[in-house]
Amino acid sequence: MFNIEDIRKDFPILSRKVNGKPLVYFDNAATSQTPKQVIDCIVAYYSNYNANIHRGVHRLSQEATDAYEHARKTIQRHFNAKYTHEIIFTSGTTHGINLVAHGFSSFLKPDDEIIVSALEHHSNIVPWQMLCEQTGATLKVIPMNEDGELVMSEYIKLLSSHTKLVFVNHISNALGTINPIAHIIEQAHQVGAAVLIDGAQACPHIRPDVQELDVDFYVASAHKMCGPTGVGILYGKESWLNTLPPYQGGGEMIAEVTFEKTTYADLPHKFEAGTPNICGGIAFGAAIDYLNGIGFKSIEAYENDLLDYATQKLLDIKGLKIYGTSKHKTSVISFNLEGIHPYDVGTILDKLGIAVRTGHHCAQPIMDYYKIPGTVRASFAFYNTKSEIDALVEGIKKAQTMLS
Ligand SMILES: *Cc1c(COP(=O)(O)O)cnc(C)c1O
Repeated sequence: MFNIEDIRKDFPILSRKVNGKPLVYFDNAATSQTPKQVIDCIVAYYSNYNANIHRGVHRLSQEATDAYEHARKTIQRHFNAKYTHEIIFTSGTTHGINLVAHGFSSFLKPDDEIIVSALEHHSNIVPWQMLCEQTGATLKVIPMNEDGELVMSEYIKLLSSHTKLVFVNHISNALGTINPIAHIIEQAHQVGAAVLIDGAQACPHIRPDVQELDVDFYVASAHKMCGPTGVGILYGKESWLNTLPPYQGGGEMIAEVTFEKTTYADLPHKFEAGTPNICGGIAFGAAIDYLNGIGFKSIEAYENDLLDYATQKLLDIKGLKIYGTSKHKTSVISFNLEGIHPYDVGTILDKLGIAVRTGHHCAQPIMDYYKIPGTVRASFAFYNTKSEIDALVEGIKKAQTMLS
C-alpha cells in the first residue's frame, strides 16, 4: 500500500484553500486532479520540443513524433491491445463514441437493432439516437433495478439476430455501479453483435484487459485518469477499424489525394485527421505511467476502503438516502437529504471548501427512474482521505440544520 501523504504531495492543487478552508475535492467522477509528474511533462513539451508530428524532417518534429508514438505504445500495453495501431487518439470518450456511431451509420439497416443500457451517460445515448434517426434502426434499452444494477435477464431477452451493436458503460458515473461487462460482451457475441464499452468512469479505478474481455471497442478520457482534458482513446479491434469508414477527412489521414479519388492512410492514422492534441497524448502516457507506478491493485483497495467508510458514515445521517446500492460499485456516492434540493446542499458544501457535483450527472434516465431531479454526488480518488470524508459528513449535517 502507498503512503497517502506522499501521494498528496504529488498534487499541487490539493494544498489550496477554497473560501478559507482546505480544499476537499470530491468531484473526481467529473474530472480528476493532475499530479506534478503530468504537469511537468506538459511544461517539458512546450519548453523543449513543441512541433507538429509525422511530417517534419527536423529534429523537434522527430522528438515530438517519437514521444507521441511512445505514449500510444504505453496506452496499448496498459489496455493490453494486440496492436499499437488499434489505439486511436481522440479528444475524449464522447469523440470515440461518435466516431464508432458514424462508422455504423454506413451499414445499419431499418430492421437492425442496437442496445443501450438505462445507466448510460448522455454521451453514450445521444449519438446512438442520432444513428437510429439516420438509419431507421431501433434502439432498445436494458432496464435497471432499484439498486442501480442492470437487469441481465431482460438483456438476454433483447438480444436477437437483429442486434448489431450493444453499448454500455463499464462503470456508471452517476451511481458507481460496476456492470458485468464480460458477460454482456459474451452474450452479444453469441448473436453476432459488436460491443462498445464506455470506460470513462472505469479507467481511473481498474485496468481493463481488452483482449481478455474480447471487446470490440473500448473508449476512455485522459482527464478522468490524472491526465489533461481534450484527449482520450478509442480502442478498436483491428478488423473493425479496417471495416469502419473514416470519421473526419483532412490532413494526416490520407495516403494519396487527387480530385478524382483519395485513398486513406493505414491505421491508426485513418481516424486521426488534422493536427492532434500532441502534448495531451504525451501527457496521457505520463498519467498512465503515474497510475501504474502506484498500482491499480493498491488504488482499488484504498478506494474501496474509503467507499465503505463513507457509506457507513453517510447512512448514519438521518434522512439521507443513497442511490446506487449495488454490491459491485466504485467510490461514487449519490445521495439526497429528505426535503432538501441537491443544489442547495452543494452550495453550502462549497462554502466549506468541499467540491461535490449536484444535478443529473448527464444521466437523466437514471434520475427519471428514481423520480428525482438529481442527486448530490461525492466521488473519491486514491488521493482522498478519511478525514476529508469526516469533513463532508460535518458539512452535510450543517447543511441539514441550515436548510430544514
Ligand atoms: C465522463 C463520462 C463520459 C464523457 O466523457 P468526456 O470526457 O466528457 O467525453 C462518458 N461516459 C461516462 C460514463 C463518463 O463518466
